[in-house]
Amino acid sequence: MNIYDVVIVGAGPVGLATAIGLYKRGITNILVVDRTRAFRRVGQGLDLLPNGLKALKYIDFDSYEAVKQFGISQPNGNSKKREWAVRNLKGEEFRSSSLQYDDWFKIYGEGKKTISWYDLQTTLRNQLPSDLVVANRRCVNLVEESDYVRIDCLCNAKIEANPYAYWHENNTEDEDKDIEVITQSIGAKLVVAADGINSTIRQILYKEDNCSAFAQPEYSGYVAISGSATEISEDIAEDVETTFLQGNPIVTIFNNEIDRDSDAQDRPRIMMFSRDLTFNYLIHLPLPKQQLNENSGQALINLTVEQLEKADFPVSIQQLVSKSNADSMAKRLYYLHRATISDSISFPSTAEINNNNNTEQKEPIWNKGRVVLVGDAAHGMPPFAAQGANQGLEDAATISTLIANLAANNNWDNTEAISESFLKYEKLRRPMMVKIQEATLKPFAFLSGEEREKYNREVYSRNLEKIISSLV
Ligand SMILES: Cc1cc2nc3c(=O)[nH]c(=O)nc-3n(C[C@H](O)[C@H](O)[C@H](O)COP(=O)(O)OP(=O)(O)OC[C@H]3O[C@@H](n4cnc5c(N)ncnc54)[C@H](O)[C@@H]3O)c2cc1C
Repeated sequence: MNIYDVVIVGAGPVGLATAIGLYKRGITNILVVDRTRAFRRVGQGLDLLPNGLKALKYIDFDSYEAVKQFGISQPNGNSKKREWAVRNLKGEEFRSSSLQYDDWFKIYGEGKKTISWYDLQTTLRNQLPSDLVVANRRCVNLVEESDYVRIDCLCNAKIEANPYAYWHENNTEDEDKDIEVITQSIGAKLVVAADGINSTIRQILYKEDNCSAFAQPEYSGYVAISGSATEISEDIAEDVETTFLQGNPIVTIFNNEIDRDSDAQDRPRIMMFSRDLTFNYLIHLPLPKQQLNENSGQALINLTVEQLEKADFPVSIQQLVSKSNADSMAKRLYYLHRATISDSISFPSTAEINNNNNTEQKEPIWNKGRVVLVGDAAHGMPPFAAQGANQGLEDAATISTLIANLAANNNWDNTEAISESFLKYEKLRRPMMVKIQEATLKPFAFLSGEEREKYNREVYSRNLEKIISSLV
């Protein structure tokens, strides 16, 4: 069995960025494993915002340049306007933000780019020697040995739908026929768990009684419904174009009469863009899970229209959705790992961790022994603030710096130094995640004006390089 310095489980953006950070800092005895049978085009489009791009630049300049080259600024080439408008139910704009890299750069010292999950994965994967990133290894168990961790992986495991992470998985039965499932074990001095919101490693770490409640992601209360409508009457198309799109390449439509004391953003909102006579949309609906079980196709259209009607959305929008192509309908439930569930965050000391004397903890921390959680595995959340991958890149920048420091001091077997480093990572990252999740789940995220600008500056304008370098 090979023993690597670091094994990263999960070749999503955060796992790969961590691997690049380590590799470029001279830690080359590493391996990234991913459960996918083969790397293929799955996943949604992502906005990389100034903080995420700054983190990537700090991780590795070449990767940052490659991602910037690949990313686009404008989702729809036909439109002359360059803003994403947010409008209320009457079509009045109450906020807009530029889609152009340069406009963001001028304000926050870094820009914004849009890239698909797969293109981001591929671009990052190409920055590493190809033999360091292997597919077809699904991590199913971890065993703590005296001076390393054994990671058991299944090869040729059946491809299962992964509704937590992707819209679709091509789960053809043929692919799963006549295959021999084999187990392979890999050893690692340190394990970085970047296996996404439905993290297997998180479930293994938290399976003890006092932590088991935090093992699985919690349903956030929101479902995303995507669809497209082509065959709609000219009247409806005209009304939607003139009242809502108004020449913007993309628009969010939302009831902005926010009562700050009310429960979260408990109202539907629509993101919409039109291309080649087709209206495409993504609707976020606050709905209990039980209402969603078997809905697809026409039933999903009916449910969505019913919810829009209930929330007083204009008739033209309801009609547009009711004319959607049933085949185009897809739904995806959003899940969450809360960064905090107690009133205040109290971190155990390194000594308490090493003595296993942390029974007082209200919530489990993001590491155990030689294993540390990053990205969605630590703090996955609905994408309303477009921060999941961006925050994950900040994790990757932080943890790769701290592991590189452990390596520089040859501390691979110094358990105290390891847990001290992992705690430093969490003490920096967790309070930020509390703030981001709050913005994600409260009406705050939809406010405009000064309050919004203050949040933007706090998140985007930080000097990450200085903050992270000061940890070592
Ligand atoms: C609709 C939507 C829009 C979004 N928009 C944005 C946005 O605009 N901006 C933004 O920053 N974020 C956005 N996000 C969030 C973003 O996609 C995630 O936060 C990000 O992908 C998390 O990266 P990750 O590497 O931690 O996990 P993932 O991207 O989930 O990657 C996890 C990887 O681990 C692998 N894996 C899982 N289990 C195992 C196992 N047992 N063994 C081995 N490998 C395993 C998976 O195959 C996968 O490759 C959006 C999310 C959604 C759903």
